[in-house]
Amino acid sequence: MKKVYLETFGCQMNVSDSERVATSLAAKGFEVTPNENSADIVLINTCSVREKAEHKLYTRVGQFRNYREVKPVIGVMGCVAQLEGETLFDKISGIDFVIGTKAVGRVADAIQKVYDGESGVTDLGERELDYDWSVADAQRHSPYVAFVPIIEGCNKFCTYCIVPFSRGREVSLSASEIIRNVLELRRQGVKEIHLIGQNVNSYRPKSDSGLETFHGATPFSRLLRAVAATGIERIKFNTSFPRDFHPDIIDAINEHENLCNWVHLPVQSGSDRVLKMMKRGHTIESYFKKIDKLKESSRDIALTTDIIVGFPGETEKDFEDTKKAVEYCGYDSAYIFKYSPRPGTPAFEMDDEVTLGEKKLRFIELEGVQKRSQNQRLQRYLGKRVQVLA
Ligand code: SAM
Ligand code: SF4
Repeated sequence: MKKVYLETFGCQMNVSDSERVATSLAAKGFEVTPNENSADIVLINTCSVREKAEHKLYTRVGQFRNYREVKPVIGVMGCVAQLEGETLFDKISGIDFVIGTKAVGRVADAIQKVYDGESGVTDLGERELDYDWSVADAQRHSPYVAFVPIIEGCNKFCTYCIVPFSRGREVSLSASEIIRNVLELRRQGVKEIHLIGQNVNSYRPKSDSGLETFHGATPFSRLLRAVAATGIERIKFNTSFPRDFHPDIIDAINEHENLCNWVHLPVQSGSDRVLKMMKRGHTIESYFKKIDKLKESSRDIALTTDIIVGFPGETEKDFEDTKKAVEYCGYDSAYIFKYSPRPGTPAFEMDDEVTLGEKKLRFIELEGVQKRSQNQRLQRYLGKRVQVLA
């Protein structure tokens, strides 16, 4: 029996893809192993959102190629695979096959071709019509927590971001399939599900079947209510896109105890000028209004965000606005990133006036502001009893 070792970088969608790939390989007679040294096949699921993540692929392939007595079969899947395609064979030696983001259901076929002696095996094709999105029987990272994809791809084309190119356009999964999946997970004893997608609240299925009986202004808030009605203990959703974050999502959280009191709403910048250059589709004022509404909730909703420092042309004044936004919003936690130029995106063509040194300084300064505000905010938990999943 051939042993496969899977290594995953990047977002929850990548983790979820890897889990389904592991399940389908196991069903086809492979042994999925956590031990990289004994694997016959190494599969690396890649991320291309920032340059640093992309470089991990180069490092890891080098290690598998050079430090093992017998080189394993090496496959690359995920966003770097989709963007680079066959060119990866020239860029990194030792790679045997490349699988795009929509071709993850055909990994076993690619492995077979390599063992049949084919070289340059590449599949960047579309998803099979009957692709199995089910996670109920999947090899999951936890028996108690499951990622449930509800939408894939992105139509927003923020000027700095590679995701619309690596993951394609938005496709929402059918509501009835999602609910069936959640019911099955609940039956199996899963305590917490995460509804995942690049922008979950842009959820818009072709037909609303399965949502007819639930109220709410947007398909996403109706889906939240439908998932809450399954009675599963804890439901989280991630990531929300600010422009599509409508108050009915907060109403759903207020009405359903099993919708966890946490929202991740990436602001990216506190400056309208930068937000416009990023093409985020929201102003800082419209974002603040959503935060105000979130803070009015009796559920004490925890709030987290993503912020990019050093976007091309970001001035000291723009950066000051971002610091003010962080103070205003009072985030419980924030992921702060130094802007990373991604070839192929519009921002890559903009003049990058912010030096790496300046980006680093802004990163440290903003982290300090966030840490202070976070520490203050977390005081509210002192002496309180809350339910956690350990
Ligand atoms: N769809 C979500 C949204 O609109 O906020 C975010 C998904 S993106 C994969 C995750 C985060 O990576 C973004 O929120 C952004 O902060 C960061 N990111 C994306 N491209 C980046 C870049 N070129 N440089 C630095 N950070 C980047
Ligand atoms: Fe990237 Fe913007 Fe799409 Fe988020 S909404 S994945 S940041 S393009």
